[in-house]
Amino acid sequence: MESIDSEIASRIRQDIILGAYESGERLSEAQLCETHKVSRTPVRLALRLLEREGIIRRGEGRGYLVQSPTVEDILQAVEVRGHLESLAARLMAQRPNRHEFLPVMDAAIKSGEGAIEKLIEIGAQDSSVLREAHAANKIFHGSILAGCGNDYVGYTCEQISHLPMLAVGSMVFDRSVDDTPEHFERGLFRMRLGIAQHVVIFEAIEKGDPVRAEGMMREHSHTMVEYIQIFEKQGGDLTVADLIAFSAAEPSAVAAQ
Ligand SMILES: [Zn+2]
Repeated sequence: MESIDSEIASRIRQDIILGAYESGERLSEAQLCETHKVSRTPVRLALRLLEREGIIRRGEGRGYLVQSPTVEDILQAVEVRGHLESLAARLMAQRPNRHEFLPVMDAAIKSGEGAIEKLIEIGAQDSSVLREAHAANKIFHGSILAGCGNDYVGYTCEQISHLPMLAVGSMVFDRSVDDTPEHFERGLFRMRLGIAQHVVIFEAIEKGDPVRAEGMMREHSHTMVEYIQIFEKQGGDLTVADLIAFSAAEPSAVAAQ
């Protein structure tokens, strides 16, 4: 269960990320208490949390100013996470006890493959199958962070995980075009490529090949940046809201916020 202050923090964070405030706008504590129907204490705790995340900053005198993350911020964070995840894959491939984590990773790969099969059967994008694929992806990536033996890698990933696309195991779904058969095929291709990369990473870790594990994870993470760039070309100026839509398994998740 989330505490009331982290619940308030995630609501304010969502508003900031979705552009409900201008960057540089002053946040009024009294207003936030009224909007979220809570007392000052949880609002203050929430604001402190958001300050640590860097999406608000202290203004002159009292109060906080909004510091909305930009597309560039998110791309930079994706790059950092890619390096951290490749480091994790390399470290894990060197660990004698890495085999403990392999069955869970193997199951996650199979579940991802199962999701692709289901999509082929349905013949269209399906939210519940995409959710399954997303969950399997999270387990795969989470196991590597947990199994790498260096807690600071996971800890550091966690520090940037509040940004869109930066949660562990985030996937990219292209929502910028209509659900045409061609678009569906491209989506399937991306999922197959992702799973094929997971298989290579898995085998490299299993065999104890740190160089291959690291290199393939680097490429796997970079795939996300490439997709973002491809989507950007399709739709003109890319916004943070687009990035949220790309990383949401459910199209309605964005509208519902
Ligand atoms: Zn992946």
